[in-house]
Amino acid sequence: MRPPRSAVGKWLRLGLAAGLIILLVAGYFALPFSRTRGIRLVRLRQWFDDPAAHPEWSVQAGERCGAAPFLLPTDGYIGFTWGDSFRPGHSHQGIDIFGVQAPGQTPVVAASDGYLTRLPEWKSSLIIRVPSDPLSPGRQIWLYYTHLADTAGNSYISPQFPPGTSEQFIEAGTFLGYQGNYSGDPNNPTGIHLHFSIVLDDGQGSFRNELKIANTLDPSPYLGLPLNASTDPGARAVCGQ
Ligand SMILES: [Zn+2]
Repeated sequence: MRPPRSAVGKWLRLGLAAGLIILLVAGYFALPFSRTRGIRLVRLRQWFDDPAAHPEWSVQAGERCGAAPFLLPTDGYIGFTWGDSFRPGHSHQGIDIFGVQAPGQTPVVAASDGYLTRLPEWKSSLIIRVPSDPLSPGRQIWLYYTHLADTAGNSYISPQFPPGTSEQFIEAGTFLGYQGNYSGDPNNPTGIHLHFSIVLDDGQGSFRNELKIANTLDPSPYLGLPLNASTDPGARAVCGQ
């Protein structure tokens, strides 16, 4: 005859089952994160090891890929794309282009004609209103640029666009400033790069919160490159692939 199962054993089995479920859920979120993040980091490190050895891995400011409606906004290596995950549950809302020069040296240009705004408190960011989305005419969109300052928040944005600039018309290719490494925390700066994203309008003449990926668009068709993590988790994105 089997001995009766003890209450302790029952709780132990319940605990193990619960632990297994927690592990499965954590794994579900962590796996895509570690896979894309891992590939991107390896490739980015290969680039930084010797950028001069691989000029073919970089894009150029003002370059247009094929018939893309927008110009590439800066020089460098596209290290992270739209939808990349930097931590569990996070999705990158734009692309990160890493130049090879020191902070304040790699030029950033306007990807499109539009109307530039820099809010009074913006040290490293600006946004350009494009009244009619070239891929969805009639819809208004916004092009967001950030990290254009040093670790202490000294701006690398062109003096043409001081804080408080509002609705200043600029043409595609206009010089906007230089790549920097401002993160908001001087003790923990980002790598030197430009973060560029395409942001949806809020329907009231302003832009939605750029920090949420649902408020942004996949920049791939606008720049003529595969820049979407879910369809292209690892390739180096350059014109003419
Ligand atoms: Zn970014």
